[in-house]
Amino acid sequence: MYDFAIHKPASVADAVKIMAGDPDARPISGGQTLIPALKHRLNKPSAVIDLSGIAELKGIKRDGDKIVIGAMTKHVDVANSAEVKAAIPALAKLAGSIGDIQVRNRGTIGGSVSNNDPAADYPSAVLALNATIVTSKRRIAADDFFQGMFTTALGADELLVAVEFPVPQKAGYAKMKNPASRYVMAGAFIAKTASGVRVAINGAGPCVFRQADMEKALSANWSADAVAGVKQSADGLNSDIHGSAEYRAHLVTVMAKRAVADAG
Ligand SMILES: Cc1cc2nc3c(=O)[nH]c(=O)nc-3n(C[C@H](O)[C@H](O)[C@H](O)COP(=O)(O)OP(=O)(O)OC[C@H]3O[C@@H](n4cnc5c(N)ncnc54)[C@H](O)[C@@H]3O)c2cc1C
Repeated sequence: MYDFAIHKPASVADAVKIMAGDPDARPISGGQTLIPALKHRLNKPSAVIDLSGIAELKGIKRDGDKIVIGAMTKHVDVANSAEVKAAIPALAKLAGSIGDIQVRNRGTIGGSVSNNDPAADYPSAVLALNATIVTSKRRIAADDFFQGMFTTALGADELLVAVEFPVPQKAGYAKMKNPASRYVMAGAFIAKTASGVRVAINGAGPCVFRQADMEKALSANWSADAVAGVKQSADGLNSDIHGSAEYRAHLVTVMAKRAVADAG
């Protein structure tokens, strides 16, 4: 590791003040991605801002027709939350399927969504459920948030504070895991809401994306059979030692069928 300073602010305002004064400082939440990056010297922040002492970033609450999850909420707490299980069971299931027990006990929703790893689970739920990202500066719609591989709309001095999930009528999630790393090879999160159907695909491409043909098919006929005939193009999908773009394209349809069945 390179040398860096450590700050431990007690409020979002204090954390943002440090970030604004030092553009090379990086926030750390669960450290499940940032610590390995530091260990491998892939990242050289001047300072690390430990968010673990900021109480306002933690917790889950039901607020009318929304579930609001604070950025520092760990995957294990989303998986076990009675509010999440009752309102959006697919989201609790997704959180409980991330990595392994150690990762779920350290990793946070804020770190995962800010990081926007193409193979991460949460971005698919955020996009399909049409969630709102609440930051230290503004509110960002999911459609505007995920901008490319490891790239989001967050500015350098902007902290992700919470994610607001509208409660859907139905939602389901299915993924094919890489058997070694457990990261997503291809996954589909599908939500039916009063304003329509949204289908988000993760793992298959460089960034989570919506599958418009599947949304159209499911709007006309909510059934696993409706997506079975919708083929995903392999153009632009990820191709690596774990699977070709064509294999991932095939998985997208299979995972979408399973996600609809999961939603019921
Ligand atoms: C072995 C292993 C297996 C894994 N498997 C999976 C898996 O199957 N599915 C999956 O989805 N994930 C998986 N992960 C990732 C893990 O779930 C974490 O979600 C992820 O590492 C990021 O969360 P974190 O809290 O650890 O963030 P950190 O590592 O602390 O931070 C990640 C990045 O986000 C920034 N950041 C953190 N918090 C904020 C904030 N509030 N505002 C702005 N920026 C912020 C940091 O500066 C950093 O750049 C795995 C990780 C490991 C180590």
